[in-house]
Amino acid sequence: MISLEKIVALAKRRGIIYPGSDIYGGLANTYDYGPVGVEILRNIKDIWWKFFVQGIDNIVGLDASIISHQKLWQASGHTSGFADAMVDCKSCKSRFRADHLIENQKEDLNVEGQPEEKLSELIKKFHIKCPNCKKENWTSVRKFNLLFPVNLGIVEGDQSLAYLRGETAQGIFINFKNVVDSTRVKLPFGIAQIGKSFRNEITLGNFIFRTIEFEQGEIEYFFDPGQDTWEKIFETWKKTMWTFVTKQLSIDEKKLRWRKHSDEERSFYSTRTEDLEYQFPFGFKELWGLAYRTDYDLRQHMEASGEDLTIEDPAGGKRITPHVIEPAVGINRLLLMVLLDSYSEDGERVVLKLDPKIAAYKAAVFPLLANKPDLVKKARSIYDALKQDLNVVWDDRGNIGKRYFAQDEIGTPFCLTVDFQTLEDNTVTLRDRDSAKQERLKIPELQNTLKEKLR
Ligand code: ATP
Repeated sequence: MISLEKIVALAKRRGIIYPGSDIYGGLANTYDYGPVGVEILRNIKDIWWKFFVQGIDNIVGLDASIISHQKLWQASGHTSGFADAMVDCKSCKSRFRADHLIENQKEDLNVEGQPEEKLSELIKKFHIKCPNCKKENWTSVRKFNLLFPVNLGIVEGDQSLAYLRGETAQGIFINFKNVVDSTRVKLPFGIAQIGKSFRNEITLGNFIFRTIEFEQGEIEYFFDPGQDTWEKIFETWKKTMWTFVTKQLSIDEKKLRWRKHSDEERSFYSTRTEDLEYQFPFGFKELWGLAYRTDYDLRQHMEASGEDLTIEDPAGGKRITPHVIEPAVGINRLLLMVLLDSYSEDGERVVLKLDPKIAAYKAAVFPLLANKPDLVKKARSIYDALKQDLNVVWDDRGNIGKRYFAQDEIGTPFCLTVDFQTLEDNTVTLRDRDSAKQERLKIPELQNTLKEKLR
C-alpha cells in the first residue's frame, strides 16, 4: 500500500496541499489548498452537487451561515454533548484523544463512545504508552468540547456568544420550515448542503484526514415514518453512496466496506448508524457516515425555539414531525481517498490516475520549443480554443520530458504538443497519461476527440 508520506510530499511539491500558516512554522491540523488542489477539491464538490442535488429530483440545496446562534447549539445538544475524551501525558505534556490512543496501540479494539472512566481503566490495563515520549504517566481521561466559540462585536455580554458550526446538518434543521414554506417540496425530500465545519479536535496528524476546519457534504432526508419504513430508505442510501464512490469517483471497491456502529458508539438519538469506510494507509477509517436520526433534531429545535416544525403528511390531514436519515461525508476525506487511490508508480514515473472528471486540468498544451514563435503561436491558438469549454493548462518550461512528468504527477489525462510537423500538416501529438502512448491528431478534430475521450 502507498504510504501517506508519499502523498504529503507529492501534494506539497505539485501545488495540491500545503501545511497551513507555512511561513510561520505551520499551525497544527490546518492545511491550504494550492492551485492544483483547489481545482480538484472544487471538482469533487461539483460532482457531489450534480449527483445529489441536481441529479435527484426530491433533493434541494442550501447554504446556511457558518456563525450561528448559541441557542441553536444548546438545543442540538452540542454545547453539552459534543465532546471528545482526551488525556494528557504528564511527562511530555502531549495531549491525545483517548479512544484513538488506545485503538492505535490495540488495533483489534473499538472504544469510541466509551465513558471516560472506562477509557482511563483501559489505558492502565493495557499499559498504553505516550507515542511521543514512550512514558506511561497519564492524567485521568476527561471531556473536551469541540465547538469553537466566537464573540460578536455588536452585542453586549452573554448575548455576544455564538459558535462556528460544528456540523452543517444543524443549518438544515433550522431552515426546515423556511424551505417547506418557500418551495414546492413534499415528503419524502432531502435538503443538502456543502460547507465548512469547525471542530477543536485533538488529532493524530494523518494529514487532511482529520483537521480542525473541514468541508462537509450533508443531506438530511426527511420522511413520514407512517408512510415509509426507515430500513428501506437506509438501504437505498447505502446503495446510492456506494455508487457515488465507485462510479462517480472511480474508487476501487476492494478498499471499501460498511461498518455498523456498536450501541456504545452510536449517538443516543440514533437508531442505526453505519460508516462507509475506506482503507487508508492507517487502517479502515470512516469516510461517510449514514445515520437514522429519527425526529430528534426537529423536536429539539421545536422545543427550544417555540416554532412549529411539523408538516402536513403527504396524504393530507394530520401534521407530523418528519424523521430523518442523514448521509454525511467529509469532502477533504474524499479528496484524500482519491489521491491515495489514484497514486501509481511506473518506474521513475509517478502518475495520479485520476478520473478525468476529478483531474484539475483535462489537458496540457505545449509548444515543443518555447523560443520558436511559430510553434508558440500555433500552440496558443489551440490552447485558447480548447479553453472555451475545458479547463486546460499551458506549459512551455523545460523540456518535453519534464513537462510530461509534471502533468502525470497531477493527473492531467492528456498532453498536446505542437511540433514542427504541426506547421506542415496541421496535426498535433496527443499523449495519454496512463499508457504514455502518443498518437497524431488533426487539429480540427481535436475538440471532439478530446471530449469523447474525457467522457
Ligand atoms: P469521526 O468519527 O471520524 O470523528 P464523526 O463520526 O464525528 O467522524 P460526523 O460528525 O458524522 O463525523 O461527520 C460526517 C463526516 O465529516 C465524517 O464521515 C467525516 O468524513 C467528516 N469529518 C468529521 N470530522 C472531520 C474532521 N475533523 N476533519 C475532516 N473531516 C471530518
